[in-house]
Parts: sequence; C-alpha cells; structure tokens
Amino acid sequence: MIAFFQSSIFVNLAYIFASILFIFGLKMLSSAETAQRGNLVSASGMLIAILVTLAQNEIIAYEYLLIALIGGLIVGVLASSLVKMTSMPELVALFNGFGGIASLLVGVAEFINPSSTTLIQIIAISFTVLIGGITFSGSLVAFGKLSEIISGKPLILFGQRFVLSALLLVALLLVLELIISTGLLNISSQTILFILIGLTLILGVLLTAPIGGADMPVVIALLNSYSGLAASSAGFVINNNVLIVAGALVGASGLILTNIMCKAMNRSLSNVLFGGFGAATASSEGSGQIQGEVKPITAEDAYLILEAANSVLVVPGYGMAVSQAQHVVRELGELLEDNGCEVKYAIHPVAGRMPGHMNVLLAEANVSYDVLAEPDDVNPLMETVDVCIVIGANDVVNPDARENEGSPIYGMPVIEVDRAKTVFILKRSMAAGFAGIDNPLFLKENSRMLFGDAKDSISTLVSEFKS
Ligand code: NDP
Repeated sequence: MIAFFQSSIFVNLAYIFASILFIFGLKMLSSAETAQRGNLVSASGMLIAILVTLAQNEIIAYEYLLIALIGGLIVGVLASSLVKMTSMPELVALFNGFGGIASLLVGVAEFINPSSTTLIQIIAISFTVLIGGITFSGSLVAFGKLSEIISGKPLILFGQRFVLSALLLVALLLVLELIISTGLLNISSQTILFILIGLTLILGVLLTAPIGGADMPVVIALLNSYSGLAASSAGFVINNNVLIVAGALVGASGLILTNIMCKAMNRSLSNVLFGGFGAATASSEGSGQIQGEVKPITAEDAYLILEAANSVLVVPGYGMAVSQAQHVVRELGELLEDNGCEVKYAIHPVAGRMPGHMNVLLAEANVSYDVLAEPDDVNPLMETVDVCIVIGANDVVNPDARENEGSPIYGMPVIEVDRAKTVFILKRSMAAGFAGIDNPLFLKENSRMLFGDAKDSISTLVSEFKS
C-alpha cells in the first residue's frame, strides 16, 4: 500500500489534481464573491502537493523538514492574524521576497550537492539563482517603500543606467561561464556562483529603488511574477512537476496583473522600469503652479449639501483603509439612498496599496457589487454628479495627471472628480499621497476639504442623517 502512494503514477496524478485545484482557485480569485473559496481551493491544492511530496521515499530525514514546517506554520499564522489589514501590501511584498530567496537556496543547495549534472540542470540552477536573488532584494526594497521606511520617490544613483547595464552584463557572463565552464576566469565554479548571488542582490536593489511611488503597483505585480518564475525554475532544478506548474501559474498570473496595472496607469512596462531614471525633471514636488485657496467645510455643512443631492459618487482610496471607514461608508451610502439619492462607488485599479484593495474592503462591508464602477464608467458622466465624496484618495483623483505635462503621473487615467458639481475631500491634512506630489484638486473652486480621520468624518455625517 505504502509503495503505491510512493509510486510515480500516484505522485503525478496527485500533482495533476493539485495543479487543477490551483487553476480553479486562481480563476475564483478573479471575483470578490468567490475569492475566499478560491483561496481555500488553492490552499487545499498546496496541502495535497506538500503531503504527496513528503510521502516520497527520496526524503531521507524528516527532522529538518519538521522544524521548517513548524517554523513556517508559526510565521504564517502569526503574520496573517497579527498583521493589520493596512500592512497587507508590505506583507505580500515580503512573501514575494521569501519566495525568491527560497528558490535561490534550492538552486545553491543543488549546485553544491548535485543530484545530476546535465546541461538543463545547470541552466535551471543559474536561472533560479539569478531570478531568485533579484526577487529577494527587489522585494525588500518594495517592502521598505510600501512601509515608508524608504522614501517613495525614485532613488537614482549617478550613472545608474550604465552601472545597471554593466552589472547585468557581468551577471549574464557569469551565468554563461557556469553553464559552459570555459575555465577562463581561473576561479572555482562555487566562487562564480557566490559572486553571481551578490550581483543579483545588487541588481534587485538597483532595479526597484529608482521606481517612483505611483509606479509601485506595477513593480509589486512584476516581483510577484518573478517569484513564480524562480519557483518554476527551482522545480526544474529538483525535478518536481507540481513546483514547475505552480511557479508557472504564479509567473503567468503575475505577468497578467503587471499588464493590467500598466494599462491602469497608461504606461508601458519599459517606461515604468526605466522611466524613473534621470527623473529629476519629473519633479516629485508637483508643478509648483498650483493656484486657489483651501476651502474647509464642517461635517454639519457637508450634510446639508448631501441631504439635497440627487447623485453621489464615493471615491475610496488608501485613507479609507487606514481609518477602516468602510462600514460607516456603507451605512452613509444606505442613508443617502433612503433619502432618494443615487449612490455609486468609483474604484480606481491602483487605489490603496495592493490590487483590488478597495474591492476587498467594500466587499467586507457588504457594499453591493452592482454599485461599484470603474473610472471609464463614471468619467464620461462626471458633470452630472452632484457630489463626489473622496475618502482618503489622493493620487488617483489628481487632475495633474490630465493637466500638468511635468507631473510624474501625467497620462495616468484618474477619476475626474474635479469635473463633478461639488467635491468633498476627506483627509487629515494637506499632505501628499503615496506618489509624494501636490494635488491641485484640493484648491479647485468646487472642492471642499473635510479635514479629520475619514471614519470620524463619515460617522458624523451618518449621525447628522440619523438625527
Ligand atoms: P494615496 O496614497 O495617494 O493617498 C492616500 C491619502 O489618504 C493621503 O493623502 C492621506 O492624507 C489620506 N489618509 C491617510 N490616512 C487617513 C485617515 N485616517 N483618514 C483620512 N484620510 C487619510 O492613495 P490613493 O488610493 O489615491 O492612491 C494609491 C497610491 O498608492 C498610488 O500612487 C498608487 O500608485 C500607489 N500604490 C498602489 C498600489 C496598488 O497595488 N494599489 C501598490 C503600491 C503603491 P492625510 O495624511 O492628509 O490624511
């Protein structure tokens, strides 16, 4: 019986089943309604893959595996339960990095203690180390930027482009040397491997650091894709079919997401990756020509305007996540509807700090999917909207994206709230958003600033409606 569970037929059938669960799980993640179940389906696939792998007789010692499993379990459970919802994007960036370093270590272990010395094997090891190292250090920089430990502005070295190209070339030459072993370098292949690892770590930093705040969604998606490619390549290294498939799925879905994010920002991938270079002119401080005055409004006065409104568009952003205002936002929406007002929610694809961030929050608060709209749906009708309530959004409603050619976000499609009859902007101060640029929306004639924590401001509006 045990022999059957260890036979290659059973193992491969189980791997195929696990892969099918991954694919269905991924498909279910594409809609907020089925996403939770999709997560469970994919996780079940992963459990099957792990159990079947553990049952194989090639494993000679379970002690280390047990330590790693328990350690991983503790970190996973603590991370998912203790990390605040607003810190999820940083956690995802960190997990991408862990994926990269895990693949890199598999490559190194197999290089030092090879189970085969075929050409395919050495190519797979070199590729795994290259992508794994870049993913690891690049994800750490992304983590630093998302958690605001590192500035969100493009960090550009003098001669960045030249240094990067030269390092990339050297890394590729080292990979070639590992594969064909010309012996020209007169150093051991292990030394070459360790130099390569050092280079990949530097490359990851140099590739991610110059990317400015607003372009980070693309980078996160791309690093996610890299971590999948590294895992897939590690699958070739240890000849494990399910790792090849799972890694390829992550790699492909990450690339699709990268493409979606590029479209959302109206940027090409090369423009995002290399656009930050020499971006001194693309001032992160804004146009410097912003005119107008700030017009604060109290929640009580805002209520009077809302009470008379026939159509309201809610535009959530990262600040809604910070203040956890989604539940009171839904309550306000319902009160407005009861008052005979049409309420819609416009969601920008890069609002918040991770893809689908706003959708997840609004789904958690039971906001119906029917009232969610994309920028393309709402922008053409913006002049007919009585009041836009911008809740902790900043970059995704910045009119500079349309009006200021010098702006780093020029050309990015935004929600054009400034064209509505009245705009309420709920935030705590005049501070900039993630991209670090000024927002002329706050000074427009039809804008009113409702200063304070978004949850507090909306709660006051709700109380006004109720009384
Ligand atoms: P922004 O980061 O541009 O702005 C958020 C605003 O929320 C800030 O101006 C802040 O102003 C306000 N805010 C913070 N806390 C509160 C609070 N408690 N109550 C009220 N307001 C608050 O958010 P957007 O969603 O508009 O844009 C997202 C940005 O993040 C884009 O630049 C995007 O490119 C980037 N990004 C997106 C990712 C994604 O995948 N979606 C990933 C990585 C980056 P104040 O401090 O004055 O309150």
